Amino acid sequence: MTLLQGIAASSGIAIAKAYCLVEPDLSFTKQSIDNTDAEITKFEAAIAKSVEELKDIQKIAERELGAEEAAIFDAHILVLNDPELINPIKDNINAEKVNAEHALKETTDMFIAMFEGMDNEYMQERAADIRDVTKRILSHLLGVKVVNPSTISEEVIVIAEDLTPSDTAQLNRKYVLGFATDIGGRTSHSAIMARSLEIPAIVGTGEATTKIQDGDLVIVDGLNGQLHINPSAELIAEYETAAEKYEAQKAEWAKLVNEKTLTADGEQVELAANIGTPEDLEGVINNGGEAIGLYRTEFLYMGRDQLPTEEEQFEAYKKVLEGMEGKPVVVRTLDIGGDKELPYLQLPEEMNPFLGFRAIRLCLEEQEIFRTQLRALLRASTFGDLKIMFPMIATLGEFRQAKAILEEEKEALIAAGEKVSETIEVGIMVEIPSTAVQADQFAKEVDFFSIGTNDLIQYTMAADRMNERVSYLYQPYNPAILRLVKMVIDASHREGKWTGMCGEMAGDEIAIPLLLGLGLDEFSMSATSILKARSQILQLKKSDMVKLAESALEMGTAEEVMEAVQKACK
Ligand code: PEP
Ligand code: MG
Repeated sequence: MTLLQGIAASSGIAIAKAYCLVEPDLSFTKQSIDNTDAEITKFEAAIAKSVEELKDIQKIAERELGAEEAAIFDAHILVLNDPELINPIKDNINAEKVNAEHALKETTDMFIAMFEGMDNEYMQERAADIRDVTKRILSHLLGVKVVNPSTISEEVIVIAEDLTPSDTAQLNRKYVLGFATDIGGRTSHSAIMARSLEIPAIVGTGEATTKIQDGDLVIVDGLNGQLHINPSAELIAEYETAAEKYEAQKAEWAKLVNEKTLTADGEQVELAANIGTPEDLEGVINNGGEAIGLYRTEFLYMGRDQLPTEEEQFEAYKKVLEGMEGKPVVVRTLDIGGDKELPYLQLPEEMNPFLGFRAIRLCLEEQEIFRTQLRALLRASTFGDLKIMFPMIATLGEFRQAKAILEEEKEALIAAGEKVSETIEVGIMVEIPSTAVQADQFAKEVDFFSIGTNDLIQYTMAADRMNERVSYLYQPYNPAILRLVKMVIDASHREGKWTGMCGEMAGDEIAIPLLLGLGLDEFSMSATSILKARSQILQLKKSDMVKLAESALEMGTAEEVMEAVQKACK
């Protein structure tokens, strides 16, 4: 029995067998071969195994994910049967007298480069297929297992070094009961996704992948951040009781689903949800979300190998707007970069991706990507109450430029006879300290602010949100952060505008009383946190919280603030 302590990333308790999602080591060296016939036979056997494996995966994918998702494997089987690819590899083994691994890699690298260089989307996709197939054949040549999370077909807990947002999006909700990772913090996107998928998760355990083998029984305690490996029968029984208790607590909160969010002295605030895909809507409705405060549209762009078309985006936005039946929907334009990559854009690697070419910076440069999204949004705007927000705004110039592009697209659509709503609010995320400090100037031009504390805290404290070693600096209650939040809220109110918060801080039990006191108008959080937050706010008096917040702003440390909140809200 082993216990690993990590960071509680998504609440709940899960007990199941481990499924280790580790990147296989496919390294090899170039070798000279005398018996090339035997090498070719080995290569052919690896191909046969790959085809067999793909057929199995395809069957599972068709059953679990549908025919469309499964079709990708057809393309891979076609590649494996294509003599134009396979024969040159065999020729290479014969001519160069080299091992199959080397001949394979050399030949497929050449094809990949050729397809990638073509000015044709279809051909560029073939490069991705060849890359995948190469990996599969190599794994059979080297006798290493390649894992594929989309084919999981029994209840498991996924163990990984890290889960990228696109890995997370591919997880089958039916079978993945929870996950635990070696790295990451509470605001890494895998943690955020886990909360919207409503699966218990722990991140930053440091060594889950080294301590856990496939098939080990594990308990994910997403309430306390504890990961138990091969627990005793007593501990399992204890956790089963704890899980029941947690479910009972959730049932209590569920009674508030149709209630307004009012403080004990009658002040109303809005509790909104953060979503990543239209599929998250159900959770928003079931959890009594009064709005969508952040739609992270980048998930539309992930887990695929090309950009989504305007039409695909239009359908997704329309679905969300219609699903919310006239309630506000704040859609954030593409925020790619940082820990969210789009391999098909082939952006150069950066030393500091969180400080690099991401979000609005990329959109203002790659304008066609940005304009396509804006057109889709504008066309969808008549289906509900759309608000558009730009991420990672650092200067007023960036906001003006983004807004001007939006206006251009709007005028062009209207000129082409399309209907566009006349009441779309346009706001920004405040997640860079420069923007918080200059909020008074921004407030004159934007319709609203939404404070993105996940980034605002990392940039203010200079502490990477993905790095568990500096996670002690992720301090939402630090008076420095509270002062920035106050500056933003006050600036917006002076101009008759509103401020929301869509960083994880908005759903934090200790932060909520402070944010109420600072005058935050909208709290946007994982849908699963809404009812708990509502039950908390019903107990609090706004007038008391104003005093609490005022005193917190004058305190020295985050710990002092935390103690003061705990004392005031006992
Ligand atoms: C934030 O930075 O607080 C935020 C909501 O954006 P993201 O977590 O997607 O970077
Ligand atoms: Mg952010």
